[in-house]
Amino acid sequence: MKSKKQRALDRIAAFGPHFRCPICETSLLLEEGRFVCDNDHTFDLAKQGSVYLFNGQPVNGYTKTLFEARRDMIVEKKLYAPVHEWVASWIDRQQVDVLLDAGTGEGSQLTELLSHVSRPVHAVGIDLAKDGIQQASKQSSEAIWFVNDLAHTAFRDDTFDFIFNMLSPANYEEFARILRPGGVVCKIIPGAGYLRQIREALYESTDEHATYDNRQTVERFDASFERIEHHTWSYDVSLTETEWQSLVAMTPLTWENKHPLPYEPVITIELEALIGRAH
Ligand SMILES: [Zn+2]
Repeated sequence: MKSKKQRALDRIAAFGPHFRCPICETSLLLEEGRFVCDNDHTFDLAKQGSVYLFNGQPVNGYTKTLFEARRDMIVEKKLYAPVHEWVASWIDRQQVDVLLDAGTGEGSQLTELLSHVSRPVHAVGIDLAKDGIQQASKQSSEAIWFVNDLAHTAFRDDTFDFIFNMLSPANYEEFARILRPGGVVCKIIPGAGYLRQIREALYESTDEHATYDNRQTVERFDASFERIEHHTWSYDVSLTETEWQSLVAMTPLTWENKHPLPYEPVITIELEALIGRAH
């Protein structure tokens, strides 16, 4: 049986010559199991198959506990299943071939999304968090994983049909550069009532954080892309006490908060999808 690293090499080779050096921007090609650019900058694959294609200091803001909490809620509990199913059917209908998950973290969203996609796609997950990408390469998915700077990715112009960006920061200028003509960005953002029970436990109702206002995010998206689709979700999910703790642990809202939040048996998920083409 092939090693995990060899399978990753096969997937990268099948993905095609879409890479550029993160240091000097010349073309980056696979040679004898590693990436080499025209100026001989080299990048090795880790044992699990992920690659560090970034010129700088990685971010290590994630902890193992956070990854596990996210995996438990996204992959095991399937907290966002309606979103993943909807986006997957869009990918199938529009015959997307090459997709990027920008800000993939530990890869749970992309793994779940791919589990619902029927057509064969080349899928790539990138994140600046090295620990996240290491974790992602252990997920049961056919994606390839790179430590990459969203503002300065290691991809050539016109590489992707589809960029998925879920509950994660974006860089629209860079997205537009690496999208193929006619390619789209699918951004998933919180709606006003997203994680309402956590916000209510943390903030007074008069506090500006008590509800989430996504208007600026939508305006910024519309300034960069021609919106072709808008979809909203609102649903409640029942949680055990352990699941509630995982959810609280994975939520940036609570990272400053040192006190445990009282258990709530139900959480509200309100999300919106914005899909747009580059102008
Ligand atoms: Zn180079």
